[in-house]
Amino acid sequence: ATPTAVMVGIGKGAENGILIKDAEALELGYKVDAVIFDKTGTITEGKPVVTDILWSAQAVNEKDKLAAVLLSLEQQSEHPLAMAVVKHLKAQQVNSLPSAYFHSLTGQGVEGLFNGQPYYAGNLKLVESCKTAVPEELQTAAAVLSQTGKTVIYFASHATVMAIVALQDRVKTNSAKAIAELKNGGIGVYMLTGDQAATAIHIGRQAGISDSHIIANAMPADKSNFVKLLQAQGKTVAMVGDGINDSQALAQANLSIAMGHGSDIAIDVAKITLVSSDLLQIPKALKLSRLTVRTIR
Ligand code: ADP
Ligand code: MG
Repeated sequence: ATPTAVMVGIGKGAENGILIKDAEALELGYKVDAVIFDKTGTITEGKPVVTDILWSAQAVNEKDKLAAVLLSLEQQSEHPLAMAVVKHLKAQQVNSLPSAYFHSLTGQGVEGLFNGQPYYAGNLKLVESCKTAVPEELQTAAAVLSQTGKTVIYFASHATVMAIVALQDRVKTNSAKAIAELKNGGIGVYMLTGDQAATAIHIGRQAGISDSHIIANAMPADKSNFVKLLQAQGKTVAMVGDGINDSQALAQANLSIAMGHGSDIAIDVAKITLVSSDLLQIPKALKLSRLTVRTIR
C-alpha cells in the first residue's frame, strides 16, 4: 500500500472512532472471513445487574454473615460481574470483611480466605474443578435461570455451594445488526464465552449467531485455541473482545479488535480499538480496508 493511501485510511477510521494501529491491520481487514466475538462486554453491554440471590436450605440461616464474605470476595475483583454483585450487596447494607488472601482465576472467578476458611465465587467449571457439592435446589434453580439468558455465579465454601447469584446483561442495540451485515458479506460469525452453554445460547440467538457457532465454558487458552483451529482451516480470523480473558485470543488472531471500554490489556494487544464499543464499526472497518486496498491496485 502506498503510505498516502494508508494514511488516508487510518485518518478516515479515526474520524469514525475506529483507531487503527498500523498499516498491516488496515490492509488485512478485507481478507477477514471469520469473526469471533466474546460475549460479555462485546456482544452484551457488559453492565450486568443482579436479579436474584438464592441461598441453599443449609446456608440461609447464616446468610447475613455469608453475604459479607461474598461482598468481600467480589470487592477485590475487577470483573463486571463482581462489580454488579458488590453494588447489589452494598445497597442491602452488607458490610465487608478483611481478607487474608485473595486470588483471581481469570475466566473462572475468585477465591479468598476469611477467618482461615477458603471461599470461592465463580462459574460452574470452577465449582466442578474444586469438587464442591451443589445442593439440588440450587442446581434446579441455576438451570432455570441460565435458560433465560442470565449468568449464574456460584458462591461456595470448600465443601458446598451456599448460594447462586443470577445476573442479567443486555445485548447491545447494534449487535444483531452488525452480525447480520457480516454474515451477509459471507463472513462466518462465532461467539466464545467463559459463561455456561444455556446462557450463551440464549444471548447468541438474540444476536443472530447460530447455536453451532457458539462455544461456551471457554477458558482464555480455549479461546485462543479456537482462533488457531479456524486458522488451520485456512481462515483469516478477526477476534473481537474486551477482557483480560480475551487477550491471548486477540494476540493469536490475524486481526484483533478491542472495545474502547475494555481492559487496558485488551486494548494494548489489539490492532484496532472501537472507541464507542459499537459493533457496527466492524463491518465499517472491513469496508475501509477494502477501499484502501482497492485504491492501491
Ligand atoms: P466472557 O468470556 O463471557 O467475557 P469471562 O471469561 O470474563 O466471560 O468469565 C467467565 C465466567 O467466569 C463468568 O460467566 C462467571 O461465571 C465467572 N467469573 C469470572 N469472574 C468472576 C468473578 N469475579 N466473580 C464471579 N464469577 C466470575
Ligand atoms: Mg468480555
